Amino acid sequence: MPSPRRQEPGLTRRGLLAGAAAAGAAGVMGSVSPAASARSARRAVRASVGAAEVIIVGAGLAGLTAANAVQSAGRSVLVLEARDRVGGRNLDIPLAAGSVLEMGGQWAGPGQTRVLALAQSLGISTFESYGEGNNLYYQSGQLQTYTGPLPPVSPAALSEILAIIARLNQLASGVQANTPWKAAGASTYDVQTVTSWIEANAQTSQARQLLELAIRAVYGEDSGQVSLLDLLAAINGVGGDINTLTGSAQSLRFTGGPQQMSTALAARLAQPVRLGTPVLGVGRGQQVVVHTASGDFTAAQVILATPKAVTARIIFSPELPPAYSQYLQRQPNGATVKVQAVYPAPFWREAGLSGYVVSDTGPIDVVYDNSPPGGIPGVLVGFAEGNNGRALFSLAAAQRRKAALGSLANYFGSRALAVSGYADMVWASEAYTLGAYGSFNPPGVITSLGAAVREPVGNIHFAGADYSPQWPGYMEGAIRSGTAAAKRVLAEL
Ligand SMILES: Cc1cc2nc3c(=O)[nH]c(=O)nc-3n(C[C@H](O)[C@H](O)[C@H](O)COP(=O)(O)OP(=O)(O)OC[C@H]3O[C@@H](n4cnc5c(N)ncnc54)[C@H](O)[C@@H]3O)c2cc1C
Repeated sequence: MPSPRRQEPGLTRRGLLAGAAAAGAAGVMGSVSPAASARSARRAVRASVGAAEVIIVGAGLAGLTAANAVQSAGRSVLVLEARDRVGGRNLDIPLAAGSVLEMGGQWAGPGQTRVLALAQSLGISTFESYGEGNNLYYQSGQLQTYTGPLPPVSPAALSEILAIIARLNQLASGVQANTPWKAAGASTYDVQTVTSWIEANAQTSQARQLLELAIRAVYGEDSGQVSLLDLLAAINGVGGDINTLTGSAQSLRFTGGPQQMSTALAARLAQPVRLGTPVLGVGRGQQVVVHTASGDFTAAQVILATPKAVTARIIFSPELPPAYSQYLQRQPNGATVKVQAVYPAPFWREAGLSGYVVSDTGPIDVVYDNSPPGGIPGVLVGFAEGNNGRALFSLAAAQRRKAALGSLANYFGSRALAVSGYADMVWASEAYTLGAYGSFNPPGVITSLGAAVREPVGNIHFAGADYSPQWPGYMEGAIRSGTAAAKRVLAEL
């Protein structure tokens, strides 16, 4: 049984097939539309209802990391959060004493030094994801068990997969995560989707299908939507090996869930996070004016620590360069629906199964055992990504549940239908997130906009997991990005 923590040659057991990794209702967006933002920005100046040297919009890991860094430097900071909770894409719901269902981010792994250090500093322990026993491969309606890093594929497919991994790592070594648009060959990579590149380099359908599934699990989006240059930059940003990105990143879980990190960071702030305060727009001047329904806030510097698709709306303003809003609109979020099925006990373990499934059939195409450390109750977490996720978007909750459990029954038999609990989350319906896991670059975006990506606009700065060159889209990236944004802001004060 391959350990989830162990880095294996070629593919890890979670392999290229590991999924990055739901019941909340969509928040009330209020009038966060471009038109409303513009109206807001044009409104006559209203009395400020709050001020700080630095205002941070968004109380996810990036915003709260930045806020703590600014406060530690002796500067006043206020965090405005649209939702009535902190944590953003980290949302944990109680399961049993001391354990939770992680509806958003959940795993960490080797190389994710900041998130593991943060957890440790807050007294939050980690435990290994369960992975004992046989894995399942469901292909064309046929179920097979397997051990080792890869589902049973033909020798030809195996050799193609290993060659492609080596080639991707080699190409990624020539792409700097900080400046992918400067790489030799950047424009050639950026006109291709990951799918078109895979299909040009793999002839066997098994290799194509497994590689495309692996990429879908990284982005929560079909590989036919994602620029090859984005993938190469992401590989470089996790140290140069795609197995780190897609495999061992899913090794560890946080006891009690990762949302605790945000709760603890928020509790350290002298000025409490203003919950239920959606920012509708920002106006730039010597001071930044931050518009909300309850009034305007002013600050010398502002950090927008919101997901890119949401930020595109907030910063729509006649006063700002259009390229920013335009750029952000061109970086959509993935389409993952995350599903958690709860059972009195992890019955699959009795049959010698690890709970890990790779499937060519949706809607749920990747499954893990997600039980708490003691194994009771049993939990299976599943993901519907890209078009598989979109297929669930318009279903009523009961139909979505039926479709998801139907997938689990294909893999684990009818016992999978007998849940004692169930939760799912359609992140695309969350007005303050707009999709999961994070954003990606379709072809042409990175090379056409280049350095505009992360530069501040005067005293308005950007932060968030998806801005981080290192571990983009991960909690690790969120923390790194928050730290970097705070540093830039402090240099300006
Ligand atoms: C289903 C799922 C599974 C994932 N799995 C993993 C995993 O296993 N491991 C991992 O490392 N990462 C995972 N991730 C990604 C990880 O959760 C995120 O990268 C990280 O939490 C993002 O943090 P952030 O602070 O950048 O953004 P967010 O957490 O999105 O925080 C942004 C905040 O801004 C707020 N906001 C938005 N608009 C406004 C507004 N107008 N006014 C005020 N506030 C606003 C939001 O409400 C939110 O609180 C997963 C994500 C999802 C959704």
